[in-house]
Amino acid sequence: MPAPVEPPIETPASLPEAYAVLADSSAEDPVTPIAGGTDVMVRITGEIGEPPRRMVDLSRLRELRGIAVDRGAVVLGALTTYTEIRRSSVCREHLPALVEAAATIGAGQIQNRGTIGGNAANASPAGDTLPVLLALDAAFEVGSNRGQRAITADAFWVAYRRTALAPDELILRIRIPIGSGRETRFRKIGTRRAQAISKVVLALSWVDQDGPPGSGRVAPIAPTGNGPIGTWRDVRLALGSVADRPIRTRATEAVLEAASPTPEIADAAAEALAGEIHPIDDVRSTAEYRRVVAARALHRMIRDAGGW
Ligand SMILES: Cc1cc2nc3c(=O)[nH]c(=O)nc-3n(C[C@H](O)[C@H](O)[C@H](O)COP(=O)(O)OP(=O)(O)OC[C@H]3O[C@@H](n4cnc5c(N)ncnc54)[C@H](O)[C@@H]3O)c2cc1C
Repeated sequence: MPAPVEPPIETPASLPEAYAVLADSSAEDPVTPIAGGTDVMVRITGEIGEPPRRMVDLSRLRELRGIAVDRGAVVLGALTTYTEIRRSSVCREHLPALVEAAATIGAGQIQNRGTIGGNAANASPAGDTLPVLLALDAAFEVGSNRGQRAITADAFWVAYRRTALAPDELILRIRIPIGSGRETRFRKIGTRRAQAISKVVLALSWVDQDGPPGSGRVAPIAPTGNGPIGTWRDVRLALGSVADRPIRTRATEAVLEAASPTPEIADAAAEALAGEIHPIDDVRSTAEYRRVVAARALHRMIRDAGGW
């Protein structure tokens, strides 16, 4: 059992104060932000990964809180917890796939403390909200003493557990576009239904150009078996736990683009996905299992959407 460590921690009361603490953070001597602490605290003894050397506690930064609708997007403060996402009427109305993902994370205690900003910055390939953020084309508003900028989800995860954030930057908010009839589905496959790290996570999102203008609500899981099958546009398929970072699978998206969710298209998309991803064997699963299950889960999503 290693000796307990107590890295120095500062608790700024405002964003400028937090930026000042982070100003001399570098890759060699990082200042580690702590939000809910559900990932950071696991590292603190040094038994798993590099322990933090210096820390900045974000909990007093009101600027990083809140859920709002602004200019065609839902804007989530980086400190938004999973419990807040689950309880938010805005999220339930506009981002049901994110609500579904939040409900699969850990148990109540983790959902009460864990934040969406922490999930994103932690950059685990198994992070459950990350494929949803990719499929919904989210953007990260980040800031430091040097100013603010936006990073698209597509450009945010750059390597295994690495993001495009500079050492002195904080995620401030996550902006998620809404509207225009977008539908999104989420599926997590783990060892069990709760308290499991994912073996595969999928988020599939599309606009049905022939369907009624919707609010982006998740379509019913049970096949409806009635109604016309529409044509899909702007299809985005994102996966977790099948690469060193969460990924978009563009070859499979191309199969689904301008197509209808028919049995033939489902077969073709599942085959494309099995060929496109290159998962690894690890303690949670084999590469082959992940490939087969990802393809089957996608097939199932398309079947449910097509109602057949
Ligand atoms: C028992 C248990 C079960 C779990 N189950 C799941 C699960 O099912 N699915 C899942 O995806 N995860 C799971 N996790 C992991 C964890 O709970 C999530 O990743 C959570 O969202 C992390 O948020 P946090 O606020 O606790 O982050 P913290 O631990 O505070 O921080 C995580 C990382 O993000 C950085 N960071 C935090 N906020 C910011 C910010 N605003 N700007 C820049 N950097 C920031 C920190 O420096 C750190 O590197 C689990 C963890 C535990 C302990």
